[in-house]
Amino acid sequence: MNRQGRPTHTHVGKGPEDTFTGDRGLMAEAKLIFEQDSPGACGVDLPRRDGPASTRLGNVPVRSHVGLPDLAEPRAVRHYTRLSQKNMSIDGQMYPLGSCTMKHNPRLNEKLARLPGFADLHPLQPLSTVQGALELIDTLAHWLKTLTGMPAVAMSPGAGAHGELCGMMAIRAAIDDRGETRTRVLVPESAHGTNPATAAALGFTVDTIKATDDGRVDLAAFKDRLGPDVAAIMLTNPNTCGLFERDIIDIADALHEAGGYFYCDGANFNAIVGKVRPGDLGVDAMHINLHKTFSTPHGGGGPGSGPVVLSDALAPFAPVPFVVHGPDGFRLVEHHGQDGEAEKSFGRMKGFHGQMGMFVRALAYMLSHGADGLRQASEDAVLNANYVLAGLQDKLTASFPGPCMHEALFDDRFLKGTGVGTLDLAKALIDEGFHPMTMYFPLVVHGALLIEPTESESRETLDRFIATLRHLADRAHDEDGAEAFLSAPHHTPRRRLDETAAARQPILRWTPETTQQEAAE
Ligand SMILES: *Cc1c(COP(=O)(O)O)cnc(C)c1O
Repeated sequence: MNRQGRPTHTHVGKGPEDTFTGDRGLMAEAKLIFEQDSPGACGVDLPRRDGPASTRLGNVPVRSHVGLPDLAEPRAVRHYTRLSQKNMSIDGQMYPLGSCTMKHNPRLNEKLARLPGFADLHPLQPLSTVQGALELIDTLAHWLKTLTGMPAVAMSPGAGAHGELCGMMAIRAAIDDRGETRTRVLVPESAHGTNPATAAALGFTVDTIKATDDGRVDLAAFKDRLGPDVAAIMLTNPNTCGLFERDIIDIADALHEAGGYFYCDGANFNAIVGKVRPGDLGVDAMHINLHKTFSTPHGGGGPGSGPVVLSDALAPFAPVPFVVHGPDGFRLVEHHGQDGEAEKSFGRMKGFHGQMGMFVRALAYMLSHGADGLRQASEDAVLNANYVLAGLQDKLTASFPGPCMHEALFDDRFLKGTGVGTLDLAKALIDEGFHPMTMYFPLVVHGALLIEPTESESRETLDRFIATLRHLADRAHDEDGAEAFLSAPHHTPRRRLDETAAARQPILRWTPETTQQEAAE
């Protein structure tokens, strides 16, 4: 690897730091898979037809047709296994990403999701052959309604953001049904980016509400913004500063009086499961990120699952399909108006019924914890975050006075005058074996560091994490030490990347010339 962190595939060992191969023990220097192409190699022996390639599309070898390399199985396995070892993961490291709830995923859930009776289902199978799967969806729906105190739930949305779209489409349908036009959606300034994006995507005007000095929605500013054109508020609770919205009932009451609907972003439900039911707070629609609160693996693009619980006012507008239980067992309402049902449904979000594998994992998680276990998980998540806050607040600058909920928010005032920024600190944390916390979000504080330890971290790990951050904060203030931050990470397969070049001149497509270009540089 050269200084910019680019691979140079020819290494000549010079000092004890360098190796002949470019590998460093278990840290292997891998070529791109395209560079490992060995024409004719294949993982399986298929009957040869015309020429060396085993798999053919008409007369053209399929793999060369789509530009894929030919590789023997062991080479392909090693390639991907080594790639996976270059990354941090929740199975390897603490992953304190705020707003993401990167918690442990019990292997039991995986085992159950892989049962052939669930994993091998086809969404178009006859209903009589999938009664168990429909019952599972119905049971999970029951527990989601019970935990939130809400009368209805739409199971199909494929992620939190998709759930927001679903909830807001139900709100729009309800407003249309009343024969009204409401064009404005109120969004607090600490909101997750998906909230204003969802409102804007549906054609609403986004109106930002400022926060108070203690990181919550400014109730007076909110009331000032209410009017007959307000369709909804999109409020996260606990919010993205890790704080419970103290005035939430007043907010709901004032909003309802003005004819608006209360969309709650429930991505942080992990902090309150078994403690508070959003239905009791006046919420009309809320998505639940099964992949955050109920333990399905996430990150790297999916899968996600974002069921949306709905109040009585919004339930008639829920999307199809949904599962109902009748005298002959479970069945699906597939389209609006079917058998006089779902007449007001706003339509369909997704081809089929949702993420079956995630439903299995979520229900397995719930049933293996039990009601007391789910409550305990929330309590432990909040305890862990407060432990981190207490362990760091005299060294880092906490943005708001504690106690916090499930995540602790710091800003970069403690780095003032050191020349070290939030990004540099995060890179140094990677060298110490921790995945960085969420940085620069929420935007309401400068240089944010948002730490969500989740309930699944032990006290030993938290102590180590706290001690590491305390050490790094001291080092930032030490003139000799501060320098090293600027080039961190030092101990990773790739060094610090030029993020501006990566954004402005991305190399999105590999061609033989790409490698030649890199080699020439
Ligand atoms: C994660 C998150 C979302 C979006 O959820 P996805 O499943 O990633 O689409 C929305 N709001 C908040 C507060 C979140 O943390």
